[in-house]
Amino acid sequence: MTASNPSPTPDAPLATKPSNFLRQIIEADLASGKHAQIVTRFPPEPNGYLHIGHAKSICLNFGLARDYKGICNLRFDDTNPEKEEKEYVDSIIDSVSWLGFSWGKEKGSEPFFASNYFDFMYKAAEHLIERGLAYVDEQSAEEMRANRGDFNHPGTPSVFRSRTPAENLERFREMAGAKHADGAMVLRAKVDLASPIISMRDPTIYRIRRATHHNTGDAWCIYPMYAFAHPIEDAIEGITHSICTLEFEEQRPWYDWLMERLLEATKLPDGRVVGSLIKQQPRQYEFARLNLTYVITSKRKLAQLVAEKKVSGWDDPRMPTIVGLRRRGYTPAALQLFAERIGVSKSDSWIDYGTLEGCLRDTLDPTAPRAMAVLDPLKLILTNWEEAFGSASHLEDCTAPVHPHLPDLGKRNFKLGKEVWIERTDYEEIPSKGFFRLFPGNKVRLKYGFVIEVEGATYPEGTSEDAIKSGAARALSIRATVLKDTKSGTPGSDAVKVKGVITWVGAQDAVTAEIRLYDRLFTTEHPDAGGKDFLEALNPHSLQTITAYVEPSLVQAKPDDKFQFERHGYFVADRVEHGNGKVVFNKITGLKDTWAK
Ligand code: ATP
Ligand code: MG
Repeated sequence: MTASNPSPTPDAPLATKPSNFLRQIIEADLASGKHAQIVTRFPPEPNGYLHIGHAKSICLNFGLARDYKGICNLRFDDTNPEKEEKEYVDSIIDSVSWLGFSWGKEKGSEPFFASNYFDFMYKAAEHLIERGLAYVDEQSAEEMRANRGDFNHPGTPSVFRSRTPAENLERFREMAGAKHADGAMVLRAKVDLASPIISMRDPTIYRIRRATHHNTGDAWCIYPMYAFAHPIEDAIEGITHSICTLEFEEQRPWYDWLMERLLEATKLPDGRVVGSLIKQQPRQYEFARLNLTYVITSKRKLAQLVAEKKVSGWDDPRMPTIVGLRRRGYTPAALQLFAERIGVSKSDSWIDYGTLEGCLRDTLDPTAPRAMAVLDPLKLILTNWEEAFGSASHLEDCTAPVHPHLPDLGKRNFKLGKEVWIERTDYEEIPSKGFFRLFPGNKVRLKYGFVIEVEGATYPEGTSEDAIKSGAARALSIRATVLKDTKSGTPGSDAVKVKGVITWVGAQDAVTAEIRLYDRLFTTEHPDAGGKDFLEALNPHSLQTITAYVEPSLVQAKPDDKFQFERHGYFVADRVEHGNGKVVFNKITGLKDTWAK
């Protein structure tokens, strides 16, 4: 059999897409000729691993560029030296590629780094200072906060607000020249201290911070603030639609203020005329971030789970990181489908975790090879085997389709002998109502094999009659007889009618496997809502490791290969630990939605 799954569809659009407000804006901009081509960007800060929320943003930004024949840049928003690392840069590149996207003008383009624009940002800051639109403020952080005012009170001007451009320029150059201590002063834009929009009350645009940057090393001791850097990055790259999450809506007036100032040609107080610093004005649009029940989407909190060893690492299969989802068995096709299904809107809401799993089932069911596995093994002994087949060691060849609807994938082969592993829960001494599987006197079919008739269970010596009747006793094995002329696929095999068909693995050719069964990582729907300590909601039973038997075809499984274990759900060969003689599977999800309320 072939164990590999079809690869996802890189850079290929999914069938038909519902429209949304962003598509409408883009279509209007292209129709009116405002833009000949759209340029979007995905701008992660390399301070952690990407999570499912980022996947939404990636599918959105890259998907729009793909669908409207535009460009999407991958840009590292690395203006914050302390928290950023090369390890994160590499993993982000890997995750975006794995999701099926490529960035820039052509395949193979390099990603962009905001830190490569530090010279330009510095120039833009001096430009604002020369025009009297920025000043160095030496108030303490507390004074600045107090003097910013609040929704009911306008801000109070700092005594440094009235400095001349020449004084400010000198001071700012001292800041850049490491003449002042960290935090001693900042550069602020001079906008409007009475504005009802707090982000317009002279936002800080540069600060002093002696920290080694992953890209620029010790070249700078001042770093631009996000609010100043981000619009400039968009402008430099010619971004037409800068799509961000709703929290930034309040920043939009400032974004536009800054872009307008850098766009207009200006006469400076000394008579010099300065042309526009940027060529075109990017526009910011906001959409609702992804909130998923039972899941945390904050890099900081995910980092805490890793640091405090609550999980085995960023790629722990319980983590909502892209590397974690990948190790869990999620596919790019499933995540792209998820992004399509949840759509984009302008109001915050919660998406049910079951929606994500549903996308996985819908993409895996049509492709995943099938296999049989016994997760809680109990031995079944066919007592008349020798009589029926002439030898106790006789093995019957059995076959099953790799996939019921994909005959081209061929057949899988395994053997049935005198001893068979079955699920412990498939036997009941006294059957409950509606139970059609194994109980004394009942006939069932071993799937792809024979019909058998149950004799009874063998219990440890001294087991009380009461314990057996109540089901509390643990059977050592089950005895049954095989009905010789009932083998699946042979003429007359269905002459004996049975209500139950059970999955099994032959004791002769069973392969021992380590299987990890996962449950949700948190026990409450909104583990970090309202400032709650999310660690308190950790599910102590989110991982259960068991030893199981699987059919021999799975020996050929390669890391990342995904299967449907019949009756049990979807499983993936662990990409880290499976191989070299070790058989390790992670449960991706069950066959049905067990999350639905
Ligand atoms: P976190 O708070 O987890 O650190 P972030 O927004 O600070 O996330 P960035 O690296 O700045 O992380 O994010 C890169 C892009 O991903 C941004 O454009 C951001 O809007 C988007 N993004 C982050 N989280 C989500 C989410 N939950 N849903 C949709 N988009 C998101
Ligand atoms: Mg951020």
